[in-house]
Amino acid sequence: MKTKAAVLFRTVGLSFKIAPFSSGLMIFYYVLEALIPTAIVMVTTSLLNSVLAFSNGEDAQFNKVIFWSVAVFGIYFTQQIFELISNLVINMGVYEKYISYARINLSEKAARLPLIDFENPDVLDKQKRAMECIEYEKLSQLFMSATVCGCALVSVISLSLTLMQFSVFFLPICILSVIPYLIISFLRGKEFYYMKYHQAKKERMLEYLWSLFCEKEAGKEIRVFGCDHYLIEKYEAVKQEVLNEEWHFYKKEVKSLFVCDVIKVTGFVLSIFLSILLAVQGAITVAVFGSCINAFSNVQAKTKEFLTELAFLPDLIRYAADYFDFLNLPEVAVGREKAAVFSDEIQLSEVSFTYPSGKSAALKRINLSIKKGSTVVILGENGSGKSTLSRIIQNLYVPNCGGVTVDKMPLSPESSWHEKISVVNQDFMKLYLTVKENIQISQLDKDLPKPTFDSIMANLKLADPEKTEIAMNTKLGKEYDGIELSGGQWQKLAIARGNFRDSALVILDEPTSALDPLIENDIFTRFMAKDHDQTRIIISHKVGLSKFADQIIVMKEGQIIETGLHQELINKDGEYKKLYLAQSEWYA
Ligand code: ADP
Ligand code: MG
Repeated sequence: MKTKAAVLFRTVGLSFKIAPFSSGLMIFYYVLEALIPTAIVMVTTSLLNSVLAFSNGEDAQFNKVIFWSVAVFGIYFTQQIFELISNLVINMGVYEKYISYARINLSEKAARLPLIDFENPDVLDKQKRAMECIEYEKLSQLFMSATVCGCALVSVISLSLTLMQFSVFFLPICILSVIPYLIISFLRGKEFYYMKYHQAKKERMLEYLWSLFCEKEAGKEIRVFGCDHYLIEKYEAVKQEVLNEEWHFYKKEVKSLFVCDVIKVTGFVLSIFLSILLAVQGAITVAVFGSCINAFSNVQAKTKEFLTELAFLPDLIRYAADYFDFLNLPEVAVGREKAAVFSDEIQLSEVSFTYPSGKSAALKRINLSIKKGSTVVILGENGSGKSTLSRIIQNLYVPNCGGVTVDKMPLSPESSWHEKISVVNQDFMKLYLTVKENIQISQLDKDLPKPTFDSIMANLKLADPEKTEIAMNTKLGKEYDGIELSGGQWQKLAIARGNFRDSALVILDEPTSALDPLIENDIFTRFMAKDHDQTRIIISHKVGLSKFADQIIVMKEGQIIETGLHQELINKDGEYKKLYLAQSEWYA
């Protein structure tokens, strides 16, 4: 209960933080609207009484008739104006602001989470629900529902007081006739939330399958392999499961709401009988008779509104709690701790690492020393752990056992180590922005003047002078009105990006897999000539790259099985030699 109230207060507080004016105006409007039904009942009763008196020959009542008529008109008119303004304020001021604020908040949070969290299905589900909370506008709905609920209560109390003046029996009839709504909404709300909670995994699967059809990358293979029907059937099967669950839910809801409606109408009929009884006994005038029924139906409507909104609250609070839960996930304050200078060596001692979803260790007891200024080539077949090792050295993952030190200083998750390194990843990022931005994004505070840009382009042989002119401000990505690059061209940009950043260590993870051997050789030769102080880790399964190495490391099944220089390893007659001979056959 206490935590629910805390979530509610946090949400309301957030509304006032994001949109203080609109939130304030919205509450003012709802309070005013809450009092309008009572005002209408009171004013129409007075109007009817004065009309009755006037028609009975009391001429003096004429002014009152005019006065109360104007009052009725005034109240309705004010209500309409407020409705118009508040719709605008609520939609633009509260809903839209909430969505954009919460989205930014969520992306910033995701960027501060440890990378390994994204391997954790629990975190991904939390993120999905937090995103749903925003997309379905649950936060603003919670704020709105809480306000409506509070104001409906104000309405109920003020109307009930008016109604009680006619007869005390109205109230119990009214409350009993609408209480089933509370029970049903409460139960269904809970059920709906848990249904959605358990559907999060299926929804993620659906989004993923859907994305396959929308993405160009997968689209190519889908066409060639002709597997579109297979994937669509998969999509439909999962979607059907989700729909079946929802259909079951809504069927149940409609049935229960029907029962509630019958009870409510019965209550209303009872109130009419009670009013007739009071009129026959002379306890109320015929004029008041109408107001009485009007007041009763208003109390009923407002009580129903209050109860249903009240029942929605726990469900909305659960959604909001998911959002806050995600925001509360522990983060790493990267950069809080100053990293070592890296003037000597990086040392890995007994480093082991298993992915949260991995069945076996991806790295097993790795011991490795990387001297400053050296070039280390890491070889090994697919899945041998090369990229994982690179992520450990990049400080993106924390080893489960063992540790990494730089100049004997342990590398902590909060270290500012990232500032000193640069990478060209196997799964590099494609930015659908300009060519210049694609390169400069690795170090935005560093100038990229046109001559430097041109020489980068010339070295990369990125532009094909006969076909495409690639200038600094050429936009990339056909979907965004830019030009399209080939896989190899994108890879060259990723290399340029990694190279552009001034760094003490650069890690190249299979950086040339999409390039032809001549260009690959050219790029590597230039890369190696750049800066002798820079330490380089080149990951590849191409043995040919070992000619650049001061140290060759051969990995297999998460372990380092050989290390040394080319000739030493050839003499060893082990895995390296096997790889070397297998690959040299191609060139023989
Ligand atoms: P390499 O780069 O040498 O091809 P990786 O470092 O990518 O190898 O992978 C090493 C091992 O870890 C493989 O068995 C792979 O299946 C596993 N692995 C890689 N990434 C993940 C992940 N995100 N979750 C679980 N297992 C993973
Ligand atoms: Mg890899």
